[in-house]
Amino acid sequence: MLVADNGIFDFFSHSTWIVIRNLTIFFVVVFWLATAFWVYKDARRRIEDPWLVGMAVVLGLVPPFIGPLVYMLFRPPEYLEDRRERELEIKAMEQRLSRRDLHCPVCRAEVDQSFLVCPVCTTRLRQACRNCKQPLEALWQVCPFCETPVEPAAVESFGETQALSPPRRERRA
Ligand SMILES: [Zn+2]
Ligand SMILES: [Zn+2]
Repeated sequence: MLVADNGIFDFFSHSTWIVIRNLTIFFVVVFWLATAFWVYKDARRRIEDPWLVGMAVVLGLVPPFIGPLVYMLFRPPEYLEDRRERELEIKAMEQRLSRRDLHCPVCRAEVDQSFLVCPVCTTRLRQACRNCKQPLEALWQVCPFCETPVEPAAVESFGETQALSPPRRERRA
């Protein structure tokens, strides 16, 4: 009994116990700093405001180990780059949709804003300026590119204008 007590006493006082204790403390501290660093890296990918990132890091440090869990509960759900990518996608989709809005009123073929006639069915889509040949909008009184006045008489003289006007209005609406 006495021998066993001495054995236990020896074990606790022995330097190996101190080494084990120090190693445990060391690993706990390393793990603590690692979780705080993880919070820092994660917060930087999710939060734009550097002050909020700093607050997240403080939360990651204090209270140890519980702070990162609290951070995980309240962090923004998506990464900044994902959000930017999504916004770009939406913008691109809107552009595609607005471009698709322009189509030939007769054959529904996709046409560009600068087209004078539909390349598929040859319907006249716009008048060209007499002077610089730029495509003109129906309501323009003067060519914005060269300041040449758009003469209504000249427009009327085009045989296709009558067929043109209604589809133009339809596209505007
Ligand atoms: Zn067409
Ligand atoms: Zn012009």
